[in-house]
Amino acid sequence: MANITERWRSVREKVDTVAKQYGRSPENVRVLAVSKTFPAHDVEEAWQAGAREFGENYVQEGIEKIQSLPNLAATWHFIGPLQSNKTRPVATHFDWVHTIDRLKIAQRLNDQRPDDLPPLKVCLQVNISADPDKAGVREDEILDLAEAVQALPRLELRGLMTIPALDLDAATLAQQFQRMQAWLERLQTLYPAVDTLSMGMSDDLELAVQHGSTCVRIGRGIFGHRAAKLSTGKASADNSNKAEGTQ
Ligand SMILES: *Cc1c(COP(=O)(O)O)cnc(C)c1O
Repeated sequence: MANITERWRSVREKVDTVAKQYGRSPENVRVLAVSKTFPAHDVEEAWQAGAREFGENYVQEGIEKIQSLPNLAATWHFIGPLQSNKTRPVATHFDWVHTIDRLKIAQRLNDQRPDDLPPLKVCLQVNISADPDKAGVREDEILDLAEAVQALPRLELRGLMTIPALDLDAATLAQQFQRMQAWLERLQTLYPAVDTLSMGMSDDLELAVQHGSTCVRIGRGIFGHRAAKLSTGKASADNSNKAEGTQ
């Protein structure tokens, strides 16, 4: 059985290989190690292997893990559904939020971001598959939300994130990733700080990197098998990221 160190290396190598294959620089494609449901010592092992950025989906679980690893200079990304009554701990403990899908959440994060921390880096989540089970804005809402978020001084708009529908054929998925890439390029012309396309997981990593992903999100491929149910903060009635929350 491979361990976390070996799996991290093989994921990183695969991403490097795919990036080069599409003429991209490997350092422009980050691997976000999605540590949700995995214990803090697994995060430490991944860190030892070279992982620097970690993704968490559940507020309470993520914060407990961050607080239990005070000496780890890791970058923490919140990638789960976010309800407005849970924004404060996220604004306080995380470096990034990938799942901004409405202005109200962005405003609360902005108001609650502590003054002694740098602005919270954020991505807008786009429901590129127009899937009723997925969170995210529609394509025709991207520019308005981006403009509103950009105006919030304690947030730094960095890009877009997407979770496509599960059952797409390769051609449809490629078209959707291509549209995400085009939206990102459009945003970059408006807001020069935009540099992040959070797109691609284990099964669609190659296609995502081909279409400009700068951040692939990999959980089980690094940490191994995930227990079916979580001890804390499981995906709630909130309608977002359903499929990932229950896998
Ligand atoms: C869980 C999750 C991932 C990683 O999924 P794995 O199946 O563990 O690789 C990526 N992105 C999001 C938004 C997730 O919730």
